[in-house]
Amino acid sequence: TVTRLRPFASTIFAEMTALAVQHDAVNLGQGFPDTDGPAAMLEVARQAIADGVNQYPPGPGMPELRRAITADRAARYGLEHDPDSEVLVTVGATEAISAAILGLVEPGDEVLLTEPYYDSYAASVALAGATRRAVPLERSGSGFVLDVDALRAAVTGRTRMLVVNTPHNPTGTVYDEATLTAVAELACERDLLVLSDEVYEHLVFDGRRHIPLASLPGMAERTVTVSSAAKMFNVTGWKIGWALGPRELIDGVRAAKQFMSFVAGAPFQPAVAYALNHEQAWVAAQRDDLQRRRDLLSGALTDAGFGVLDSAGTYFVCADVTPIGVTDAVEFCRSLPQRIGVAAVPVSAFVDDPARWSHLARFAFCKRDDILTEGVRRLRTLR
Ligand code: PMP
Ligand code: GLN
Repeated sequence: TVTRLRPFASTIFAEMTALAVQHDAVNLGQGFPDTDGPAAMLEVARQAIADGVNQYPPGPGMPELRRAITADRAARYGLEHDPDSEVLVTVGATEAISAAILGLVEPGDEVLLTEPYYDSYAASVALAGATRRAVPLERSGSGFVLDVDALRAAVTGRTRMLVVNTPHNPTGTVYDEATLTAVAELACERDLLVLSDEVYEHLVFDGRRHIPLASLPGMAERTVTVSSAAKMFNVTGWKIGWALGPRELIDGVRAAKQFMSFVAGAPFQPAVAYALNHEQAWVAAQRDDLQRRRDLLSGALTDAGFGVLDSAGTYFVCADVTPIGVTDAVEFCRSLPQRIGVAAVPVSAFVDDPARWSHLARFAFCKRDDILTEGVRRLRTLR
């Protein structure tokens, strides 16, 4: 393995899911739903395979999917994109992220992250031969805030790109309009490209509104927005994601993507297009149900003695393990599958400063009620 990839030999999700399987544990670690997406969407994929939609689709993605993505974005947020030049279908958001960094950042450039960060950002920056800087989210009450002045202080003459993720994995933080406006001002002031990871855009709770960063003044021309069918329609295994942005930026993303995978899974594309066009009510119902399951898991973790933090969106809630007498969440998460048959993920797996985050574990609530209830029953035995 080349030196720059050695720190990325394994992923925390692979490690914790392997432990969960080995010990037949309730997997509240890796964030994937355990129920299927809309039945009619699954049927479109089945039919596409039967109808011979099994060869390379067009490089940028099938036209019907590109049109569905841009139509959805226009309907939801009033943001217009040319389906022919301003959207690119990718192999999940993961590839959109890697391709955006590889296609838009030079070796030696700096990429600014906020920490905790989704693990693929750091690995993609390393793949590009660039350097990352991570600015920590700050605790505020029982949640987190982004200190944009700290972000500003971390910008250097070499900073090329800022990566923003809202709704935020792993904390479930949803940035408010004031925060995003300050981020946008900083990006304009320092002429930064922005990679906005909005894969959980539809999973915001308690009546909150997701604000796409590209909708703020000065941002449309400098932002690549990434999203995915994975979280929208419960199909994390289909690996259909996309990048949206101005033509010049999408050209860079495509230049990298075409030599990473060339294209993304043909029969899934008409199915995702169908879902974007016809299953928005399903998405809303799924969000409401996830909000209920967030409450179920958060309440149960509180009862079990954890210091539960606020989750305003995503699949995840973070909890402080110190109130149950644990000092190191990494050791705690490693031993948990064997001890009580539950898997969780230590937040310090997503950071450059592990000491600061060593007290937090992330739990996923995107699981069936019976699974959550059983997980919680086992967690209560820790008391
Ligand atoms: N970004 C974030 C914040 C995620 O949580 C995930 C995965 N859950 C991804 C990107 C990758 O998405 P995909 O599965 O579509 O590759
Ligand atoms: N995004 C999911 C999570 O945060 C898992 C993705 C993965 O396994 N790479 O848990």
